[in-house]
Parts: sequence; structure tokens; C-alpha cells
Amino acid sequence: MKINTISPHTPPIAQLLINWYNLSHRKLPWRETNDPYKIWLSEIILQQTRVAQGLPYYNAFVGSYPDIHSFANADLDSILKLWQGLGYYSRARNMHICANMIVDQYNGRFPCSYKELLKLKGVGKYTAAAIASICFNEPIPVVDGNVYRVFSRIFEISDDISNSKTFNTFYETGESLIDSSNPGTFNQSVMELGALVCTPKNPKCNECTVAEYCASRKNGTQTNFPVKTKKVKVKERHLKYLIIHDGINILIQQRDTKNIWKNLFEFYLEDSMSDIETNQKIFLEAIFKRKTRHILTHQRLNIDFFELKTNFKRLVKLEKDLKMRRIKIEEIHSFAVPKPIEAFLKDWDYC
Ligand code: SF4
Repeated sequence: MKINTISPHTPPIAQLLINWYNLSHRKLPWRETNDPYKIWLSEIILQQTRVAQGLPYYNAFVGSYPDIHSFANADLDSILKLWQGLGYYSRARNMHICANMIVDQYNGRFPCSYKELLKLKGVGKYTAAAIASICFNEPIPVVDGNVYRVFSRIFEISDDISNSKTFNTFYETGESLIDSSNPGTFNQSVMELGALVCTPKNPKCNECTVAEYCASRKNGTQTNFPVKTKKVKVKERHLKYLIIHDGINILIQQRDTKNIWKNLFEFYLEDSMSDIETNQKIFLEAIFKRKTRHILTHQRLNIDFFELKTNFKRLVKLEKDLKMRRIKIEEIHSFAVPKPIEAFLKDWDYC
């Protein structure tokens, strides 16, 4: 475990947070390293993802691609396969582009400043701040959901966090507190406090290291913070999948649309949000198998699975007519597929 010393000039809140972090943080593999490749990997995996869910993915990626060169040399389909189930697949696609940028434009070494890190594909302010502070000791504060919650409660900051301009308020708050001799640990301590103590519901104020400095604890206003007014608009979307097979072979296609699951593989599809015309007749011949619902941040997917078992000759014709790809059924496990298809295949008789 890395223990970080505190500079005598560090503001008390930062001192308390770093002391608490050194004693109480969860022991996770990316906390035991300053390797920017591994920090980058962990930070991108953990965006919109819980630690328990992200950890096996992190281990799998480090195991398969131990450095930036092996990641850059991998083919995108293999990366998407390893990413399968994590969602937000654009993260994986951007990581592949980013790894190639680092190899081609930076001689395989991560740039070591916040400003330069921001030029990398898929690396936004949060990830750049995390890498710059943890790996290169640059005193740049991170601002994420945990930071919004912790700072808004400590200082009763009532700026609306759904307004993009509010980022600056929290960035400046972080800047005023950050321990410049130990910025990475400071950043991680705020996020860890948000994850373990200053939780969205029922914050554990009695166990909190900064309780004596916290305005919302003093005023009993914890649940008023952070302030967020805009609600995410959620669209209903209907997908109809048709599994066409002959008991040995199956037809699949690769998604190339910009919206969800780009580059992943799927069955023949009718999509309520697509202009592409589907062959309606073929659905009439099929047997309904299952209905499922899949929730994304901006969409609710209502998915019906149908099955059409046919003979080999017709399968080959449909492959051509529907512009699909024919593979052996057992091969489907080596293709990256969306989560609802993965779940369907688990229970499907032919898998
Ligand atoms: Fe959060 Fe309570 Fe700690 Fe304040 S005292 S930072 S509300 S856990």
C-alpha cells in the first residue's frame, strides 16, 4: 500500500481526507500503481460502472493487454468482446483509437500534462485530471459525481450540477483545497469518501472525517445537495430480433449505426427507431420466444425475440437476401454481442 505524506501547508480538510484515505480506502489493483496505462484503463472502465462490476473487467484487460502497445495492436472486435456487458461501448472504441494515438504520436508513452492528456481520444477533463494528478503529481482537481456530492454538502454549494457551467465552481473548490504535494491521493480521497461515507442516500456523517467542517451536516441539509434540476428524457424503443438458424449455422450481422451498440453483433433486427426497412413476411413465419426489457440512460428497450428454424439451403438464401453473415452456432460466443442477446443465448436450446 502506498502511504502518502502530507505537506505542512495542506488545508485541514485535505489533511483529514488524506489521513482517512490512507487508513480506510478499498484495496484495489489500480490503487497500487502509478502506471498511466493502468490508471487510464481503470478510470475509463469505472465511468458509469460500479467498482464490483468493473474489477473483473480491469483484471481481464490487464491480463490480455498488459501495456499500451498490446492494447493498440489488438483488433477492435477482440476489445469489444472483452468489454461485452459493460455497456457504453463507445468507451472501448475510443480507447482503441486513443491507444493507437499514444503509440503513433507519443512514442508509446502517455503525455504527462493535463493539457496534453486532454488531446487524447475519449479522455475528458475527469480522466485527464485523474491521470495527471495520480501519475504525474499535477495539482489538477477531479470533478465527478462523488466530488459534486461531497463538496456541495460540505460547503452547501447550491449551483445546479445539471448546468455545465457549474463544473467551474467545483473545479475551483477543488483547486483551493488540493494538496499540491499529493494531488492524486487528495483526488482519490474525495471520490472514496463519496463512494463509502458521503453516499447519495443516508450519508454516514457520524463516521465522516470532515464532519466538523461540513455545513450540511451542521444544518441537517444533506439531502438537499447536490442540486440537480434537469431530468434525463427517456425514450421508449421497440426492437424485434429474429434468430435465423438451421440447428448448426446461424445468421448474424454487425451493427454500424451511430446510436447504441456500434460494432457489436446481433440477429436480424426490426427497430422502431430505424429507417431501414425489414422483411415483415419473415417475422410471420417465426415463433415468438421471449420478451425482455433493457434500460439504458436515455432509452428503454422493449425487445422481442423470435426464432426461425429452417433448412441449410434456405439459410444460405436468406444470408444473401438479408445481407447477413453465416457462422456456426457455437462460434457466436467469440463475437461481442449486446447484453440482452448475451442473456438470451444463455438460455437458448442450441447454445
Ligand atoms: Fe457528507 Fe456527512 Fe461527511 Fe458532510 S459530514 S461530507 S454530509 S458524510
